[in-house]
Amino acid sequence: MEECIFCNIIDKKIPAEFAYEDDDFFVIKDINPKAETHLLIIPKKHIFSVASLTDEDRKLTSDLIFLAKKMGDERKLSGYKLVFNVGREGGQMVDHMHLHLLSGKLISLP
Ligand code: AMP
Repeated sequence: MEECIFCNIIDKKIPAEFAYEDDDFFVIKDINPKAETHLLIIPKKHIFSVASLTDEDRKLTSDLIFLAKKMGDERKLSGYKLVFNVGREGGQMVDHMHLHLLSGKLISLP
């Protein structure tokens, strides 16, 4: 997955501003934020997109959403949007599944 930006960030080949990391996930600040708070919640497993999920990814997907909640709770966010872009026509530019967390003044949707 040499060409995958997020895999390269996991491998620390590309720098990023980490907000969280564990064995299965990491959270970084979006390099081009679309809102006051714009985090990307990313599984370390290279899953292409939501459209590529299989039954074996059910727990991972649930954990991903709970991690988004943890990020919101820790920052005491009173509200936020969670966005999955799926496929090019859905606005997905990085082909490694990720969940956008947006809060505060919204510039645009990702
Ligand atoms: P999407 O369009 O849903 O695939 O979102 C990809 C997101 O990744 C965009 O919001 C980009 O700004 C963000 N992004 C791309 N490269 C980086 C990077 N090196 N560090 C942080 N965020 C990035």
